Amino acid sequence: MDYDVIIIGAGPGGIFSAYELIKKKPGLKICVFEEGKKLEDRRCPIDGDKVRSCIFCKPCSIMNGFGGAGAFSDGKYNITNDFGGNLYEYIGRTQATDLMYYVDDINVSHGGEGTKMYSTAGSSFKKLCIQNKLTLLDASVRHLGTDINYHVLENLYAELSPNVEFRFLTPVEKIEKITDGYRVHYSGARSGTADAPRCIVSVGRSGSKWMEQVCDELDIPTRSNRVDLGVRVELPAVIFSHITDELYESKIVYRTEKFEDNVRTFCMNPNGIVVNENTNGIVTVNGHSFEDPAKKTENTNFALLVSKHFSLPFKYSNAYGESIARLSNMLGGGVLVQRFGDLERGRRSTEKRIEECTVRPTLEATPGDLSLVLPKRILDGVIEMIHALDKIAPGTANDDTLLYGVEVKFYNMEVEIDSNLETRHKGLYVIGDCSGVTHSLSHASASGVFVARKIAEAI
Ligand SMILES: Cc1cc2nc3c(=O)[nH]c(=O)nc-3n(C[C@H](O)[C@H](O)[C@H](O)COP(=O)(O)OP(=O)(O)OC[C@H]3O[C@@H](n4cnc5c(N)ncnc54)[C@H](O)[C@@H]3O)c2cc1C
Repeated sequence: MDYDVIIIGAGPGGIFSAYELIKKKPGLKICVFEEGKKLEDRRCPIDGDKVRSCIFCKPCSIMNGFGGAGAFSDGKYNITNDFGGNLYEYIGRTQATDLMYYVDDINVSHGGEGTKMYSTAGSSFKKLCIQNKLTLLDASVRHLGTDINYHVLENLYAELSPNVEFRFLTPVEKIEKITDGYRVHYSGARSGTADAPRCIVSVGRSGSKWMEQVCDELDIPTRSNRVDLGVRVELPAVIFSHITDELYESKIVYRTEKFEDNVRTFCMNPNGIVVNENTNGIVTVNGHSFEDPAKKTENTNFALLVSKHFSLPFKYSNAYGESIARLSNMLGGGVLVQRFGDLERGRRSTEKRIEECTVRPTLEATPGDLSLVLPKRILDGVIEMIHALDKIAPGTANDDTLLYGVEVKFYNMEVEIDSNLETRHKGLYVIGDCSGVTHSLSHASASGVFVARKIAEAI
């Protein structure tokens, strides 16, 4: 055996597996294979000047590399079992919450000191939401901000790299089951194989297609049936400031009157920016915000999402989401932007209307018509939700509120794993977002710590 443990993917799941393994069992021989680059080499070429939109780099510096998909994220670590994944179904609510707090302690001690922890506990907004047919989900959230999040990752890498071998730009192509362990076949500048008795797979959302292939080859059952679709809303920060100042990130759910669908807010970025996101070559929209006051904008953005669950025989929920995103890319060459007033009046936004708009867009997107892209049921849900939010944050339904589309939240298929997060093959663990069990930084990181402890106990 070349190593004691092989980890595939250096996102939060992989990083926290490695971190906990070296804490619990110093001296273990651990190798992390990562398709993307080192943190300091990760650079998205979009500069808003020479390169204005995605040029589909491979690997994509936003999604791949040390830190995973979360490296340039807003660094919001939500500590809750109410959203962000269903890790608690495997390991229990108390343990899941404890592990998320443990991860928070590590982040704080690695550069996150001084950042704020927000909480919905005792918030008066709960009552206000209920009075307006909205539900505020319970959570504590540590907001690191994009800049501090990066700094924490730098510190974690500095601590891990003397004890853990990192192989960047080295995608694993295949996992082969061998006697007493696993052989990974990797490519990159040098191709080859490496063997270990235990293998942790943590390839995130960007590795979802590859994960499907691994499950097929190793006969690991999977299921997939969900995709979330919607828009990103951008409005003057003052409209939401009474909520964001107290809670920073609020997850608010609304049940639509027309279809009884749940629409929810997601990824709130006070004084932030709207950004492009590239998933498998399709450009969708997301948001960031910064702790650094110099980088703050006058706008707040958040997503409004509707979950679409499919029933059999249809199994390709992500392909459905991709097709819708592709439609917006076809019409706008990328992301579309529309004023809420234009959407309600049934007309497209134009360059002129966006120019005259009182809300200055923070992302250069193509003015267009989102009703040509999003299914009616989803769009109706979004419109109803905007009016519901207007009751707790007057101004949300202003004509000049900007809607960017489409925002898609893809879910990995759920891989069959047991309460140790182990597949039917002993020693092969699947964690983080690629397991379909987690969808967030805190849950993915907690799953890494959990598996590392299980392995350490077993050795
Ligand atoms: C722009 C953006 C903002 C976000 N903001 C937040 C936020 O504020 N809060 C929050 O909770 N969540 C956020 N998320 C989601 C969060 O980043 C993910 O839930 C989290 O990163 C999942 O961690 P992971 O380790 O499971 O996977 P990832 O972070 O996706 O890491 C997987 C790693 O595996 C590598 N990989 C893939 N395939 C292979 C292969 N075959 N061989 C080797 N390596 C491979 C990838 O390159 C990647 O680096 C955001 C996501 C994005 C894209």
